[in-house]
Amino acid sequence: MKLKNGAEYMDSLRRLKPRIYYKGELIKDVTRHPATAPHVRAAAMTYALASDKEYKDLALATSHLTGRTIGRFTHVHQGVEDLIKKVKLLRVLGQKTGSCFQRCVGLDGINATYSVAYEIDQKYGTDYLERFKKWLIYIQDENLMVVGAMTDPKGDRSKGPADQPDPDQYVHVVERRNGGIVIRGAKLHMTGAVNSHEILVMPTTAMDERSKDYAVVCAIPIDAPGVTLIFGRQASDDRRDRGERIDSGKPTFAAVGGEAVIAFEDVFVPRQRVFMDGETDFTGSLVYRFAAHHRANYGACKTGLMDVLTGAVTYLTQIQGTDKGSHVKDKITEMIHLCETLYCSSIACSAEGWKTPSGAYMVNTMLANVCKQNVTRFHFEVARLALDLAGGFIATMPSQYDLESEEVGGLVRKYFSGVAGIPPEHRMKIARLIEAMTGGTALVESMHGAGSPQAQRIMILREGDLEKKVRLAKSIIGIPTRKKAAKPAAASKGKEKSRG
Ligand code: SF4
Ligand code: FE
Repeated sequence: MKLKNGAEYMDSLRRLKPRIYYKGELIKDVTRHPATAPHVRAAAMTYALASDKEYKDLALATSHLTGRTIGRFTHVHQGVEDLIKKVKLLRVLGQKTGSCFQRCVGLDGINATYSVAYEIDQKYGTDYLERFKKWLIYIQDENLMVVGAMTDPKGDRSKGPADQPDPDQYVHVVERRNGGIVIRGAKLHMTGAVNSHEILVMPTTAMDERSKDYAVVCAIPIDAPGVTLIFGRQASDDRRDRGERIDSGKPTFAAVGGEAVIAFEDVFVPRQRVFMDGETDFTGSLVYRFAAHHRANYGACKTGLMDVLTGAVTYLTQIQGTDKGSHVKDKITEMIHLCETLYCSSIACSAEGWKTPSGAYMVNTMLANVCKQNVTRFHFEVARLALDLAGGFIATMPSQYDLESEEVGGLVRKYFSGVAGIPPEHRMKIARLIEAMTGGTALVESMHGAGSPQAQRIMILREGDLEKKVRLAKSIIGIPTRKKAAKPAAASKGKEKSRG
């Protein structure tokens, strides 16, 4: 495992030459640019924990391919214990960064691709898994960060990939040569893209026979010719870019993941790095396995964030002198309760994990959907309670420039102090942290990351097995039910079933 800590990870990024734009300008060094450095530091924490005695057991794993010690973010889950350790690791990382640390997307892409490549090979006699294993050993040995690139722009959403007026609205193969393929298109909202080493391109939806050119999985170095990244704006990013240590809310880490557009303008991919090319009947499985893994994560990484937010609000009530109120205690109790409820579902879908034919383990997909669905509600409720307890000054407080001003600084200090002995800076800092963790971009990720709420509801209904529930009710009151003939295997039809 080459990259052993955060410093080595950052050095490795400096050796790359990706083409990244932000506010219309080229970023030369993502580790130092004020817009991207906070995201790099959050991702670097995934490397730092691997050399921390306390967390080594969570942060490291043994490769089933080589037997060597590797970072967990490059590991193919070999059992329920791996799934649970991953969840525990994500919560710790959320607690330490108060932010998205981005590396799970690649991990989920690796796990989805591994099990699906095996199944494609079984059906069509291809050698995708062997190719994938070679690439994965390279990723594991180097300990590289991979961005899982799934979400296409989708253009006219009433039409599928093959019917778009502009064929580039979904990533597709535009040429097949002896040595590989050429792809064109784009992926949007790509978490951690600008500070990853490699891109794992995956299809964004289940596809039909007419979309063969769109059914493509492949790996591309982040600085490959033809790859361009455009880093997205976030709420209050100007405060962060100016290095405002109080007003930015989180001076070390960013509010969320750091998402980017990745455009592929006729990018050549050598055959050894192609892991699906045209097998449309497996696109559904791949997308769903990726989504289920990522939905399971949200009950862990976001609970880490909720721990930080709950701590911030508790501290604020202490230094404002409101902590003894029974309604305050009750609201903080509710914040903890919602957070731990989410964590339960993350642990549960891991504990109910199941072995795919490849040997890689999947989470229980029904419980993973329930987990993420609840994140879209509970995180908002936790944020609502935090704002309720913090008070309106979160939205009206003067800036750090006023706090530091010779003319009005005294007034700000006098009127924004709380309990005697606590510097007003502390109250303003913690208030800005709460503002950053409850504002615009931070919560949008909980709503739409790993799929919008409706995506989970569709799967919850599909996997809810209503026929069985009807049979249960009928049997209790003695109405006989005739059993239907068994359906063909789900995976071969590109659909997944809940297991566990
Ligand atoms: Fe990982 Fe959570 Fe960020 Fe997704 S949102 S990449 S699961 S930290
Ligand atoms: Fe995310």
